[in-house]
Amino acid sequence: MDNIIEVRNAVYEYVDEDVVKRAVDNVSFSIERGSFTVILGHNGSGKSTLAKLLNGLLKPTDGDIFVDGINTKDEETEIEVKRKVGMVFQNPDNQLVASVVEEDVAFGPENLGLHPSVIRKRVDDALNSVGMYEYRESTPHRLSGGQKQRIAIAGIIAMEPSCLILDEPTAMLDPKGRKEIVSTLRKLNKEKGITVVLITHYMEEAEKADRVMVMNDGVIIDDNTPKEIFKKVEVLKSVGLSVPQTTELLYALKQNGFNISTDVLSVEETANAIAYCLEEE
Ligand code: ADP
Ligand code: MG
Repeated sequence: MDNIIEVRNAVYEYVDEDVVKRAVDNVSFSIERGSFTVILGHNGSGKSTLAKLLNGLLKPTDGDIFVDGINTKDEETEIEVKRKVGMVFQNPDNQLVASVVEEDVAFGPENLGLHPSVIRKRVDDALNSVGMYEYRESTPHRLSGGQKQRIAIAGIIAMEPSCLILDEPTAMLDPKGRKEIVSTLRKLNKEKGITVVLITHYMEEAEKADRVMVMNDGVIIDDNTPKEIFKKVEVLKSVGLSVPQTTELLYALKQNGFNISTDVLSVEETANAIAYCLEEE
């Protein structure tokens, strides 16, 4: 299998006035190139720490992390790792630096010292791929939260990373903005083949992922397809996560004696399952 990221027995401990907090506790997994992975977990479960480990912002206290075969601990290749794994954070306002959209997106490629014509092309491509090309001459602070976050994503895409890690990029957005981000990420994954690791506590955002990892207390407690993950309603609830409304409904029907399939996720599938169940009654 072709893995872009390999995590082997990674541990991360924060030391704060002699108090040691183990935020990531002996975690091992790999991320396949071109895949779309969602990492779910409630506050304090270690998601941000793990994200920072994956692009070398933090170095593991113990164990190793490899990006494209490069150990993130290697100081000579530090920049290469950061270039391969782009990071998008929660607050778009903290990530936008320029007063014009296209200047903002050009900021990263300019720092790579690329030729102006190459930069121009990268900026246009990146803005097109997040659906924001027509806003290239706008002022970022006048855009909606979802639009700003798409500009932040474009700025990272313009550096042409192989992998994109997003740490709760939708946490500050309204439902519309959240949908915009998730569909933009799916498009980047499908059309550009960019590996996506989306960290979130919104379950609905995991529905269309190839794979869902559930994190709790520094440990990956489950790692499976979205359908398999969401079947475990009780487990998810026990770690402070709420399941999608469709799952909740089917689960409640089943608990109340309806012979209904819980092996579905989308609204359409759920409607069909209910219709089918009623026909059988
Ligand atoms: P999440 O992103 O899932 O909310 P974090 O990775 O931010 O989780 O935090 C995991 C744990 O590490 C939490 O218990 C948190 O309090 C602790 N932690 C995070 N950052 C620091 C820090 N700079 N110093 C000490 N403890 C920290
Ligand atoms: Mg976090």
